[in-house]
Amino acid sequence: MEAEEKHAQRFVRKHALAVPIDIDAAAQKVARIEYIEFPADSDADGITLGPKTATPRIFVNKRKPRSRQIFTVAHEIGHIVIPWHTGNEITTLDEADTPLTSYFACEREANRFASELLMPLNWVKQLLGNADGKIESVLREIVETCEVSPIAAMLRVSAALPTGYVWAIANADGYIIKSGRTHGTLVRQASADGTILIANAYSFAVSTEIFSYSRTKYGWWSFVGNIPPNGSDARTWREVLNGILDDLNYQGAERKRVSSVVSSISGYILGQRQGGTVADRYAQVLSRFEQRDELGRVTKHKDFRTYVYKRVGEFDAQP
Ligand SMILES: [Zn+2]
Repeated sequence: MEAEEKHAQRFVRKHALAVPIDIDAAAQKVARIEYIEFPADSDADGITLGPKTATPRIFVNKRKPRSRQIFTVAHEIGHIVIPWHTGNEITTLDEADTPLTSYFACEREANRFASELLMPLNWVKQLLGNADGKIESVLREIVETCEVSPIAAMLRVSAALPTGYVWAIANADGYIIKSGRTHGTLVRQASADGTILIANAYSFAVSTEIFSYSRTKYGWWSFVGNIPPNGSDARTWREVLNGILDDLNYQGAERKRVSSVVSSISGYILGQRQGGTVADRYAQVLSRFEQRDELGRVTKHKDFRTYVYKRVGEFDAQP
């Protein structure tokens, strides 16, 4: 948990707030707040003046949708409450992703403050526990309770889930516009350039959830506890791979080539990074093979996942 998130928790305790947060009442604890129409050519969401004076002032752009205004007010409270945010701030939420300068660092901190204030992580974890893994119902509940955008809620769910999840958001036409993965997850995330969101994007996922919500499509894939169907196979990875090549009748130079490609892709991916659980690394290697169509016969063989699983286990066992 980051320092600014702890400041959000302290703010909640100090003023005895609870979900759903009445954001205007919360803002009035520390500032004077006004909703005004910003000039039509301004894309700004909000402005905070004198965050460290006796009377800070928050201006919110009336032209923006309510969910965005709520997030903006929470963000501006962050600028007032976070001790090291000292200057006047003009906030444009869209640019807050850009990791360039200390200005943007402050913007990201204020966003994290706002997320924790509006959607406390422990509360989201509780929702997930009650929903028995059904992410759609949790997402709807966050959006409806906290009046935030579905994307803000999605990022919060992502922060609350353990290692081993990948997600994607697609527009009404099905094209992925944003994707991500939970903390520590090694499985590649979907690319956002012209890729269509499809349910079987990860054929080895333990569970898949696809749903639509306010003209946007969401996909979640879980790899938690992912193990191959025949993980107790006693052979070494090399024996399993040779068995696959035998079954598929690979001979001579072609056999050598395929064997070496499969083996070096696995070794390369595993060598890139240490740590993680066997299940995560197993899923990570499988995700890389899914893009290698020319190896389709090998990767679709019933023992291929056993090969990868053993490969991960033996790689990690090396001194
Ligand atoms: Zn700001």
